[in-house]
Amino acid sequence: MKADNFRKLDPYVPGIQPAFADMIKLNTNESPYPPSPKVIEASERFNAADLRLYPSVDVGPIRDALAEYHGFDRSCVFVGVGSDDVLATIFQACFNSGRPVMFPEITYSFYEVWARLYNISVKKIPLRPDFTINADDYCGVENGGVVIANPNAPTSIAMEKGDIEMIIRSNPENVVVIDEAYIDFGGESVLDCVPKYDNLIVVRTFSKSRSLAGARIGYCVANPELINIIETVRNSINSYTNNRPAIEMGVASVKDEEYFRAMLAKVIATRERLAGELRALGFSVLPSSANFVFATPPAPLTAAEVYDRLAEKHIFVRHFKIPGIENYLRITVGTDDQVDTMLYEVRQMLKK
Ligand SMILES: *Cc1c(COP(=O)(O)O)cnc(C)c1O
Repeated sequence: MKADNFRKLDPYVPGIQPAFADMIKLNTNESPYPPSPKVIEASERFNAADLRLYPSVDVGPIRDALAEYHGFDRSCVFVGVGSDDVLATIFQACFNSGRPVMFPEITYSFYEVWARLYNISVKKIPLRPDFTINADDYCGVENGGVVIANPNAPTSIAMEKGDIEMIIRSNPENVVVIDEAYIDFGGESVLDCVPKYDNLIVVRTFSKSRSLAGARIGYCVANPELINIIETVRNSINSYTNNRPAIEMGVASVKDEEYFRAMLAKVIATRERLAGELRALGFSVLPSSANFVFATPPAPLTAAEVYDRLAEKHIFVRHFKIPGIENYLRITVGTDDQVDTMLYEVRQMLKK
C-alpha cells in the first residue's frame, strides 16, 4: 500500500502504568485514595444483565446530577469519556475558523496533539520565566480560540480569576476553554462566569479529585448553544459514549460531597507537607494549587537522575524531556506513607 493512504501523527504519551506489586505510583496524578464508599456500593448494586441495553443517549442521569450539583440547567452540561474526550470533541466542534488556537507553550501536551489531528493551526505563547501565564499575551491577538489549563499542568500554578475573565472578555468572537482538571485542589473556578460569557467553556474531570480515573468521566459546562454544537459533533462520531456502570458510579460520586471534601483536604495537607520537605532538602518547588508538585532538585543532582534512581526503587514520578523543564519532576501527591518513602529515597541520594 502507498504511504500516502495513512495519517502520520505524534501521539500524546501518557505516564507509564507499571505493574509492580510494591510500586509507589506518583506519575499520572491519580488519587491515592479509593472513590467514595457510595461509588463502591453503586458498583456492587449494578446489574450486569442491564448491559444488553445501550446506555441513555445523552448520558442522562449523570448529566442531571452534575447540572443539579453546579446549579445549571442540564442543557448547559456535556458529559464525555474523560475530559480528554470532552476536549477532543470541543477542538473538533469549536476551532474551525482557520485562525490559530492559542495556548501556553508549556501546558497539557494533548492540546497540541488534538490540534494536529484536526488540522488546527496553533500559536504557542511562552510562559513568564517564573512559569506563570501572562494574561495580556492572550488579549488583542488575532486567534481562533484559547485553551488554558487552570491550574496549569505540569507547572501546578493557578491563574488569578480576574486575569482569566480578562482573556474571556477580550476574545468575544472566539471560544475560550478553561480546563479545570485540578481546580478542586486550589485556584478559583470560573464556572460561575458561564452565564455571563457566551464564549466560555469550563472543562472538568472525575479522574483526579474524584478518584475515578478508571471510570473515564469528564464534562464541560457552557451556554446551551455551545453545548449543542459540541453534542452535534459527538453525535456524528459515537452516540453512546459513557457506559452504564460508569454513569451509575459517577452519579454516586457526585452525591457524596462529604467524602469528596474529606479526600481533597487530605491531599492538600499532604501536598503542603511534601512541598515543605522538598524545599528543606534544597529543591525549588513551584507554588502548587494542584494534586502534584513541580520541583527541581539541588545541584549536582538532576531531575533525570532522581527519576532513574526512584524508578529503580519502584517509585514512579514524571519527568518530561522538554526544553525549559527538563530539570523538573512532576510528583503526584500520594498518601503520607508514600510521600515519606519517596522523601527517604531522595535523602539517600543527597547523602552520597
Ligand atoms: C488529566 C488531565 C486531563 C484529562 O483527564 P481525563 O482522565 O481524560 O479526564 C485533562 N486536562 C488536564 C490538564 C489534565 O491534567
